[in-house]
Amino acid sequence: MKILIVEDETLLSETIVAYLKKEGYRTEQAGTLDQGREKVNLYEYDCVLIDIGLPDGSGLGLVREIKKCHPETGIIILSARNSLDDKISGLDLGADDYLTKPFHLSELNSRIKSLLRRRKFDGQLAYEIGKMRILPEHRQVFIQDEILAITKKEFDLLLYFVTNPGRVLTKESIAEHLWGDFADNSDTFNYVYSHIKNLKRKIFEKTGTEYFRNVYGSGYYFEGPKATTDKLDTPSHTNPL
Ligand code: CA
Repeated sequence: MKILIVEDETLLSETIVAYLKKEGYRTEQAGTLDQGREKVNLYEYDCVLIDIGLPDGSGLGLVREIKKCHPETGIIILSARNSLDDKISGLDLGADDYLTKPFHLSELNSRIKSLLRRRKFDGQLAYEIGKMRILPEHRQVFIQDEILAITKKEFDLLLYFVTNPGRVLTKESIAEHLWGDFADNSDTFNYVYSHIKNLKRKIFEKTGTEYFRNVYGSGYYFEGPKATTDKLDTPSHTNPL
């Protein structure tokens, strides 16, 4: 994973680089809008962190350019300006997320992780979980480059789990999600059970990973990364970097 940091505050940029390297990312730096532009035109990045207030112009211009030429690249805006206008313009231009300085490095890390998990493929939203890539708009699941053969119900079930990671989903809520009307009878629960069983098996066969956990007596949960989509809900942080 390669990340470009476009930031003119050298100390902040260095701190971010040191932290991200420790997290296993490859990093590159640009201190001006021009340098950022040059790098983006020459190389491919999985994610670009962009400061809005750069010495030679607004980072928002770079957001626009990246979205035009490299729509698959993730963008996180870093800004000292706690301006709602900047935030909205940035997200409107296609930035994936927004962090107001000062921020915690761990917060930046979790935003990057979350962004990389829901990267876009051919402009489509996708959830990436380990070797698995789920494309909701195409209703397809890829394991590496191979399409996973699953039924429509299994796809709905998988998406329901993926969008509710770490949450215990009861048999009742799963039944209601899959069939709309929930009928409280043992047949319905048997259907839920067999759909989960089949889906688990198909995914396990291809990935060797067990994503579904059974919570005795209550239901199931998906042990996978959190895939959040509420971009505007940026928490504020009191402890400065
Ligand atoms: Ca700046």
